[in-house]
Amino acid sequence: MKFPMIGDIASKITTVVNIDDSVGCAIEIMLKYEHRNVVVRDKSDYRLLSVMDVLSFQTKNLDLNTKLDVLQLSQIPVIKKHKNVLDTLEFLNSGIDYICVLNSDNSLYGIVSHTDITSNIDPDTLMDNYRLQDFLKLNRRMKWVNKDDKTSELLTEMRSSSFDNVIIVENLKPIGILTTKDVMRLIKYKKNLNLPVSCHMSSPVETINKNSSIKQALSYIKQKHYKRVVVTDDEGLLAGVITQKELISLSYSKWAILMKDYQEELRELNSILENKNKEYEAMASTDSLTGLYNRYKFSELYLSSYTAMLQRNNKMSLILLDIDFFKKVNDTYGHNIGDIVLIQIAKVLLKNLRNIDIVCRWGGEEFVVLLPTSTLENAYDLGEKLRKYIVELEIDMVGHVSASFGITEIIAGEMMEDAIERADQALYLAKNSGRNCVKTDKDCRIEIF
Ligand code: GH3
Ligand code: MG
Ligand code: MG
Repeated sequence: MKFPMIGDIASKITTVVNIDDSVGCAIEIMLKYEHRNVVVRDKSDYRLLSVMDVLSFQTKNLDLNTKLDVLQLSQIPVIKKHKNVLDTLEFLNSGIDYICVLNSDNSLYGIVSHTDITSNIDPDTLMDNYRLQDFLKLNRRMKWVNKDDKTSELLTEMRSSSFDNVIIVENLKPIGILTTKDVMRLIKYKKNLNLPVSCHMSSPVETINKNSSIKQALSYIKQKHYKRVVVTDDEGLLAGVITQKELISLSYSKWAILMKDYQEELRELNSILENKNKEYEAMASTDSLTGLYNRYKFSELYLSSYTAMLQRNNKMSLILLDIDFFKKVNDTYGHNIGDIVLIQIAKVLLKNLRNIDIVCRWGGEEFVVLLPTSTLENAYDLGEKLRKYIVELEIDMVGHVSASFGITEIIAGEMMEDAIERADQALYLAKNSGRNCVKTDKDCRIEIF
């Protein structure tokens, strides 16, 4: 869903009066352009002259030449035209009907009203199932009079209660409406206010059934450019009046709840996906039996350690170890016990290595340990320690096992496979030297010579 910018929906202002213009001049302009309101420029502020202001002016019996500044008109908020329509929500919720729209240089661009906003929000995204009658149960604020009531009394009441429209009924059926626009004409043309309202009302009045949805009411208002909708029940009796402002705030609050739910859902979905990702990542990088890194992850970690080694000019070594006569363990105690041995050995390795060392189950009963920052001599010493810890390890049912070790130091410029190959040759030498011992690739060279 895309919301428009304020500038796209605002009406460009063509009629502005100045604060030192007369009330008569403002009324003239309002009638000419059929505006219920006119923007009044007061230096850098903007004020609004409404029909209600004209009404209260009329009661004071002041001359039409009176300047507008005596009316103490209310100021209207301003918003820049590049802002999003949603930025107007705080104003609409605080009961303001109009907002002045400014260009980026703060000059006046136009005005945005509820009508502008209603006709620019898509009813489809709003209220589909909410019926007008549900809303009327909560909100029955409306004014209606019988067609024979006197117009002057009605005007007094409108002023005191600040209703901007009154429904005229006959036997409780709406037959007409008197809005502030009609009031303007009555004042301008000095109509006889002693006549019954039926003489001055706009008639007939269009109505909408209370079983209509808010969505339908919004479409209706949008299509007819109405400010309010008169609601009737199935017998055609007056059920209420709903203004576009109420419809919008209802729709927006509903929409805001929807968005909040949607956001929460998204957040939940995201955390599920994140956890799944972590799970999959762990699955893809570890060996399920021992929890050690697998070959794939080892290659990745090897590369980053190798790069760091080159950058820092470190030494780095690698140990390859293989459990001795493991086949015999399996054959004697079964595969499950063999698995337990593998797990125990993995624990010994993890327990006796530094955090920076990388241990991997290379395959079967073979493990590889990468020792960043270790020389061949350091690696040999560590290999010896590990060998002793493994031999000393007491495993249930099995007793003791041993392992053979092949060690090499990484050479700058070589591939990981070259280093593994050298460590494997050293391991082969260890196996051939009676097992349960540690050999380095240097030992292999000595053997060859
Ligand atoms: P050597 O001292 O020469 O290394 O002898 P070995 O018996 O350890 O070597 P060999 O390679 O002949 O046997 C390794 C055995 O490890 C064979 C295979 O069944 C077993 N093995 C490989 N992976 C697993 C595993 O995940 N669990 C268990 N229980 N056994 C495994
Ligand atoms: Mg073995
Ligand atoms: Mg093996």
